[in-house]
Formats: sequence, C-alpha cells, structure tokens
Amino acid sequence: METTLILNMDYSILTKLSWQKGITLMLKGAIIPIEFHERRILGANGEYYPLPKVAMVKKFILFTYKAGPSRRNIFLRDDYTCQYCGIKNPDKLTLDHVKPKWQGGKDTWENLVCACFKCNSKKGGRTPEEANMTLLNQPKEGGGRQYYR
Ligand SMILES: [Zn+2]
Repeated sequence: METTLILNMDYSILTKLSWQKGITLMLKGAIIPIEFHERRILGANGEYYPLPKVAMVKKFILFTYKAGPSRRNIFLRDDYTCQYCGIKNPDKLTLDHVKPKWQGGKDTWENLVCACFKCNSKKGGRTPEEANMTLLNQPKEGGGRQYYR
C-alpha cells in the first residue's frame, strides 16, 4: 500500500500517512506534493488523481513535547548548580531526590534537583526539612525544546 511521507518545512520527516490521508490533505491544500506514486486513483468526479508520495506541510510545525526529568534535563534546568549551596559546576554533580525514594519520593521534575556531592551526602536519605537544608529554587517542570527527549 502506498504511503505519503510528510515533511516539515525544513525537510525533516514529520510522519508517514496512508495515501488516503495523504490525498485528502493534498486535496484540502494542506500539504504541497513534491513527489507522486505511479498509481493514480479515480475520484468520484471521474478525474484521476496522483497519489502523493512525498509532501510538505505549508506551515512550519513546531513540536512541543513533554521532556522527561532525565539526569541531563535536570542538570540543564538547574544550570549545573547545586540547589542547596549554589555552587555551579561542582566536582561531583549529583541528582538528589528532594523527598527521598525510600520515603516514596518519585522521579519527577518536582522531586529531582541538582546537588553537589557534599550537599547530597549531608542531606542523606532525608527531606530538606529533616536535614535543615533549604532549596534555592522550587523545582518545577521543565518543558520545551531546550530539553532533551
Ligand atoms: Zn551543594
């Protein structure tokens, strides 16, 4: 079965659709065909239509996706800065669970922060309150293109 490859305006591949969806979008004028399949299909009006093989969207499509709270993304969000003492680029940057895992703390944007090794050791398996430590920033969800998927 023929498919239609949909390209973004920068020629990056967005998706692959069935030719039925491809031709519908083409007839609606939503995509600009670049290449066609050899097969043509007979439309209800008696006209033959070529099946788009490769087509481009007319508007640039920006993807917004939910980036996960990976180690890399947490470091990026916190700018490689320990969220307890404020040291940037410490020798050993670690990932700290604000609420420790053993207390039910999850791997979420709100519960993960950058911490230097010293602060992380000092905090141990405790919450900041229990360890009498203060977070410099309230951890929030990071979103958008600057984060890694
Ligand atoms: Zn620190």
